[in-house]
Amino acid sequence: MSKNIIETDAAHVWHPYSPLLTKRPVAEVVSAKGMYLHLADGSTLLDAISSWWVNIHGHANEVLANAVKEQILSLDHTLFAGFTHKPAVEFATRFLEVVACEQQRVFYSENGSTAVEVALKLAVQYWKNKGQNKTAFVAIEGAFHGDTFGAMSVSARGLFTEAFESLLNPVVFIPFPDGSNDEAVLSALESYIKDDTVAAFIYEPLIQGTAGMRTYSPAMLDKMIRLCREHNVLCIADEVMTGFGRTGKKFASHYCETHPDIMCFSKAITGGLLPLGVTTCTREVEAPFLTEELNRAFFHGHSYTANATICKLALTSLELFESEPCQNDIKRIEAAHKKFFLTYVNHKNIKRIQSLGTILAIELQTSNGKTTYEHEMRHFLYDFFIAKGILLRPLGNIIYILPPYIITNEELNRIYKTVEEMLIVLDKK
Ligand SMILES: *Cc1c(COP(=O)(O)O)cnc(C)c1O
Repeated sequence: MSKNIIETDAAHVWHPYSPLLTKRPVAEVVSAKGMYLHLADGSTLLDAISSWWVNIHGHANEVLANAVKEQILSLDHTLFAGFTHKPAVEFATRFLEVVACEQQRVFYSENGSTAVEVALKLAVQYWKNKGQNKTAFVAIEGAFHGDTFGAMSVSARGLFTEAFESLLNPVVFIPFPDGSNDEAVLSALESYIKDDTVAAFIYEPLIQGTAGMRTYSPAMLDKMIRLCREHNVLCIADEVMTGFGRTGKKFASHYCETHPDIMCFSKAITGGLLPLGVTTCTREVEAPFLTEELNRAFFHGHSYTANATICKLALTSLELFESEPCQNDIKRIEAAHKKFFLTYVNHKNIKRIQSLGTILAIELQTSNGKTTYEHEMRHFLYDFFIAKGILLRPLGNIIYILPPYIITNEELNRIYKTVEEMLIVLDKK
């Protein structure tokens, strides 16, 4: 049966970011519970990366599953143009309180890319409704904001965007603020935004995920946001990865003194069970849309906008996230990561190690000194951890641990021990 699934999959099903022909077959997962994925070959994997950064309360969580079941049986889904429902309104109001940052209105979509797409369109139409033609964007080198055309445009040019380059909107990229180049970054930003053509500056607050989990300081982010304010450029915080406790605080933007005008959320927003994207904005941003004129309304909407079942799930997940046990788990993981970081900060096989909240990232030394997403070391690393029953998905020569918050200390230690073993194997290679 299992062989059949793999063969049929190879014949008919496409997988993300993967060549259609590969010597590395996909694995069939048959069930998932708590921290673990159970595979068809009888093996079990510890999900150390939250199934691509989405899962925070563990797999098959009963509280979440029951909320979904109850909601489906009472109100599954309806159109959202001309209608509303309690799950959408309750989640919106509760969520805005937790996000704070002066965010006052939510727009629902289904994933991180669409949350970003909505943010970019809102920014452009904000200026248009105010009678100004500002349509350009500034982003940070190495950025990843998603795979739709708008989101790709504001993402780093490279492997992910290569085939579509001629179709992407022009966007200028400022250097990544690596701690040594603050002045250069700020002057590049200022030179791009001073001519009144830039609608918005978009950034992943404090840490770029896909670029290799690399961090920068809240103080620097504050400076960039202030500069944008001075030059009438909107700021869009893409919290798709950083939201819901990943960086230690509830949202990465909470480390800053300034606040963004627009924010994007997805991934952990539902606890990782079902897809949801949310874009929020301040009263200032919604102001030019407060009119009865149809041509100034925001023309964007999806068939599944504000799906009632998923909104109810997101509300239930938010309650779990806000609970004391979950907040304590985040602090516990943060402390454990920090301890590991301090032990290994000077290891000779490690080029860079960083811990921020529940994220621990390790960039390994390579023989040619280069760090790339395609680095062949990723296969060795992936296989090494899989053989030990741990799912890590390296970004080239960078590994990171980004676990669901229910992970126990024993499970965390098991991952750390395996990383230590890997460092010893690298010594011998
Ligand atoms: C994953 C991610 C996205 C895209 O989200 P999808 O749900 O995969 O479309 C956008 N921005 C950031 C920062 C992300 O990490």
